[in-house]
Amino acid sequence: MTAVAAAETFRFGGMLRRLPSAVSESAQNAYGYARGGRKRLQPVGMTIDHDDVALARSLLRRQSAWRDREPVRRYEQAFAEWNGSAHAFAFMGGRKALTACIEALELLPGDEVIVPGFTCVLVPNALRFAGLRPIYCDIELDTYGPDLDSVRSRIGPRTRAILLQHLFGLVSRDYEAIIALAAERGLRVIEDCAQATGAKFKGRRVGTLGDVAFYSSERSKVYSTIVGGIAVTDNEKIADRLRRCATEWPAPSDDQVRRLLTSVIYDYFRFGHRLSPILEPLARIRFDWAVSENMSDAELAGSMPDDYRTTMAAPIAALGLNQLRKFDANLSRRIAGANAWRDWCLSQGYRPPTVVDGSEPVFLRYPVLVPPEMKADVSWARRLGVVPGVWFRTNIHPVPEPVPDCPNADRAVACCINMPTILEPR
Ligand SMILES: *Cc1c(COP(=O)(O)O)cnc(C)c1O
Repeated sequence: MTAVAAAETFRFGGMLRRLPSAVSESAQNAYGYARGGRKRLQPVGMTIDHDDVALARSLLRRQSAWRDREPVRRYEQAFAEWNGSAHAFAFMGGRKALTACIEALELLPGDEVIVPGFTCVLVPNALRFAGLRPIYCDIELDTYGPDLDSVRSRIGPRTRAILLQHLFGLVSRDYEAIIALAAERGLRVIEDCAQATGAKFKGRRVGTLGDVAFYSSERSKVYSTIVGGIAVTDNEKIADRLRRCATEWPAPSDDQVRRLLTSVIYDYFRFGHRLSPILEPLARIRFDWAVSENMSDAELAGSMPDDYRTTMAAPIAALGLNQLRKFDANLSRRIAGANAWRDWCLSQGYRPPTVVDGSEPVFLRYPVLVPPEMKADVSWARRLGVVPGVWFRTNIHPVPEPVPDCPNADRAVACCINMPTILEPR
């Protein structure tokens, strides 16, 4: 989904149409680069480095091993251990991991799930594909998580679960209270940790307090395998059903795997290389064929893609393992970036996001509420050397689905921008 944000800057498809903007952006990058460091425009915080490229190249040469399930099992085990979860299962995307969570909780058609009215359409889509009804609740503006009182007000006789979302790498303010409310009302909690992989609350990673949780390693998330997702649980029954999805669903086609591995190289040259400002337009021309959209128009419009249910491919799991090893090093970079944005907020009179007591955010992005006109046109940020993220520009990004009675979510749609926290290539 956040690749959609990237696509706003880098229009996928139609190379000729795109080329002029590629050149002008690159010229600005080169200008900033020549002036040294900070002025380099950085639309996406990148965790793909040279060693990931070397790995992707070697994986591209070993196609005969792409169907091996062993690397996937190793990745799942490593993730579970690192996350402090009893079980982890890998899929080809966060939304697919969410689909497995829905199946594992045995939610039934017509059941209602409470979802924050400030999210990406692929979250309610995963619910609707399973015949469930998303019921939107409001968020709070401290951490952009679901608001406890609003969640409570949405509970009805058909409510079965709450989708507890952690955005921007922050730990949601009402985390514990919503878990307690769900327990009291006999509701399941699905944690959406797609943007907060690795964040901690009272020493435990997010995703370990709910019944089941999912994570994403889509290219713009906390760590990147270009596309990827994981579902975790401590519950043995839920784990059995997740395992069934992970073993029975098909793996992606070799063609898709080839595109993804090539995209690792592409992303590195676009964003991660010291000379990216110069290499980027060349990389666009050379690797354009490999780029696939994160969400097709059909999926945006609410129809389920044919390859929606897919388990993780072995080479993607190998990338995931390599990215996990570098997690802490990248987190230090993000924390340094977040500290810089915090100082910037204070100096400009903006309120920094809240780090709730006992939480250790991973600062995927640094969200800030600015006047609506500053979100409508973010070109003012060029002097800061960044391209702010504008997700979400509609409540159910990027579609105009109306969300009644969610004033805070509406305010975030109008005013919340997010700054990249990895500001320099390695
Ligand atoms: C990215 C994202 C997802 C889905 O992840 P994919 O890997 O793109 O399918 C779900 N929820 C939120 C909040 C996200 O940011």
